[in-house]
Amino acid sequence: MQLNENCMRLKQDYLFSEIAERARRHLAAHPGAELLSLGINDVTRPLAPAVCAAMAAAAQEMQYPATFHGYGDVQGERFLREAIAGYYRQRNVSIGADDIFIGDGAKSDLGNLCDLFAPESTVLLPDPVYPVFYDTSVMAGRTIRFLSGSRENGFLPMPDDSVHADLVYLCSPNNPTGAVYTRAQLRQWVEYAHAHKACIIYDAAYEAYIRSAALPRSIFEIAGAETCAIEVNSFSKTAGFTGVRCSWVIVPRALMQDGISLHRLWKRRQATKYNGTSYIVQRGAAAVFTPAGQQQVQRDIDAYMENAVMIRDALEVSGVFSTGGTHAPYVWMQCPHGMRSWDCFDSLLKRFGIISAPGAGFGAQGEGWLRFSSFGSRETIEKAAKRLADMDWDAFAVFAGADVRL
Ligand code: PLP
Repeated sequence: MQLNENCMRLKQDYLFSEIAERARRHLAAHPGAELLSLGINDVTRPLAPAVCAAMAAAAQEMQYPATFHGYGDVQGERFLREAIAGYYRQRNVSIGADDIFIGDGAKSDLGNLCDLFAPESTVLLPDPVYPVFYDTSVMAGRTIRFLSGSRENGFLPMPDDSVHADLVYLCSPNNPTGAVYTRAQLRQWVEYAHAHKACIIYDAAYEAYIRSAALPRSIFEIAGAETCAIEVNSFSKTAGFTGVRCSWVIVPRALMQDGISLHRLWKRRQATKYNGTSYIVQRGAAAVFTPAGQQQVQRDIDAYMENAVMIRDALEVSGVFSTGGTHAPYVWMQCPHGMRSWDCFDSLLKRFGIISAPGAGFGAQGEGWLRFSSFGSRETIEKAAKRLADMDWDAFAVFAGADVRL
């Protein structure tokens, strides 16, 4: 037996497993301690009634011979692909239902897309970013170059023409920093992709959190993107589908490399390795785009964004620098006095019962930062915001053993 050496190059633990393990150890040592979870990506609000009603009706259909559904269209049911195309049309983005592929989650789609590109491809990865881009590129044996995000560039790295790449991952709004590219910035990325014959893999999982019409919610709002980009999106954070599982990938029919259609390659790949998303789930997903569904999911998004504002305001009151939380459900905080991410994480957990996500887990440039998620319940966020607003970060850093010069 020969193992895939690329898998052995992965870090020992996936970031969120390590966070959960440290929280578990803390609870084991302090039974009954109240922990406030602002660390994990998961949502807490239940599914929209319109979604549940659609799934219940679909489950009923399965009971009768005349309405039973077996294998569906491997690309996804047309009713859902049409609904997604309509969602884009509302923003004057023309995507054909035939360009859309339904999946069982953006994480699997991102991993599966690696099948389309040569192992020797060079990949450009923003740093910090959602760790799955890095891990799947490592598993695929790719050469990885990093695009440095920093406080100075607003965590929005821009292309450098002297650095060649075959694949570019962009995530906007960014997980973990909450930074959002402008249209002008995305235009530069599209130009870069054309100049380098590169493909952009654009992760728009948080586009529904963008609150300004001036900011792009899809790479396909940029002219020319249909010949150089693939977009990945998910119902997880928009409609609470983290446990239900549904996503979509747009591989435009116009996207070609040396005369070969990436759309056809992806369709062929899916036909071989995927048998489609559950019919019941797709009915629920389609209900997200009905007027009632849109209204209901918007209420959840608004509630999470109110949480984000509470976290941001608390950090501002306590005098520590943070960004994000305006067009994204994540607030990105600079650790006080140059503390390292995991030290800051551990102290917040042990002394204040707050679970965050250490920035270092999202890339080297995330060292010295922490991410707070606004997906908690209102009660949790209110309690955490109170603790954060009252925080004396100087004393916090001294207690944690940081090199504090006051
Ligand atoms: N993309 C980003 C940027 C994410 O943050 C996440 C989940 O946290 C995903 C994709 C995965 O979403 P899904 O639940 O659809 O697999």
